[in-house]
Amino acid sequence: MSKTALVTGASRGIGRSIALKLAESGYTVVVNYSGSKDKADAVVSEIKASGGQAESYQCHVQNFDDVKEMIKYITDSYGSIDLVVNNAGVTKDNLLMRMKEAEWDQVIDVNLKGAFNVIQNVARPMIRQKGGKIISVSSIVGSLGNPGQTNYVASKAGIDGLTKSVARELAAKGITVNAIAPGFIESDMTDVLPEKVKTDMLGQIPLNHFGSVDDISETVLFLASDKANYITGQTIHVNGGMYMG
Ligand code: NDP
Repeated sequence: MSKTALVTGASRGIGRSIALKLAESGYTVVVNYSGSKDKADAVVSEIKASGGQAESYQCHVQNFDDVKEMIKYITDSYGSIDLVVNNAGVTKDNLLMRMKEAEWDQVIDVNLKGAFNVIQNVARPMIRQKGGKIISVSSIVGSLGNPGQTNYVASKAGIDGLTKSVARELAAKGITVNAIAPGFIESDMTDVLPEKVKTDMLGQIPLNHFGSVDDISETVLFLASDKANYITGQTIHVNGGMYMG
């Protein structure tokens, strides 16, 4: 029987690439999305057209009860949940002194609480299965800090800490828990940045080019594989040398 993976925020960008790669390597993939039903369904169609298995599932990851229902739906439908990738993320950038409470709350809720919601609800079935893999998408700025992104940076530094603590709690159950911290990856999230910001950023990347969504999904594929069975509690940086931790 094929393994089952949930990828949150898989309708676009990095999540889409992760979903396609996992399906290609034999996973049945649940393509979670928030608003982009057509895009999520297109990812599912692409997977099915290549002979894979997938379905889309709408759920706002910040809503605990909805996440609980989604995980239950997956385990009831497929019998197991072998891999989750907490990829859903948003930005609401503003300087500290201008940041609205709602901007802070939304980013922390989606990026950090969303990952907690998924991890806590998936832990029980994974413990029952005696194994599983949990991967969360962090960010380079969680290590570097970034002006104008206090909410986002706090959420991503939170992901790194959450990853270490959960890794320690679940290691004895055969579950590995890791994070991937992308640098600058070309996607909808970075397309909106002003050209000047992009040029400045490029100047800080030793490999002298932006990353692609595939750079991240290949790392997910590695961490999800048996080749990474001895890796847990880590944040793997994929950033062209922009940050060397
Ligand atoms: P995109 O903006 O391209 O895609 C974001 C995805 O998250 C979409 O699928 C979106 O769904 C989904 N999403 C947003 N809010 C929710 C929610 N409340 N519940 C469920 N899904 C939601 O982003 P990227 O692909 O660039 O980023 C993916 C991850 O990588 C994020 O966690 C981001 O912080 C991180 N990252 C990205 C970097 C980059 O350079 N691009 C750098 C470092 C980290 P929908 O389409 O339905 O709105």
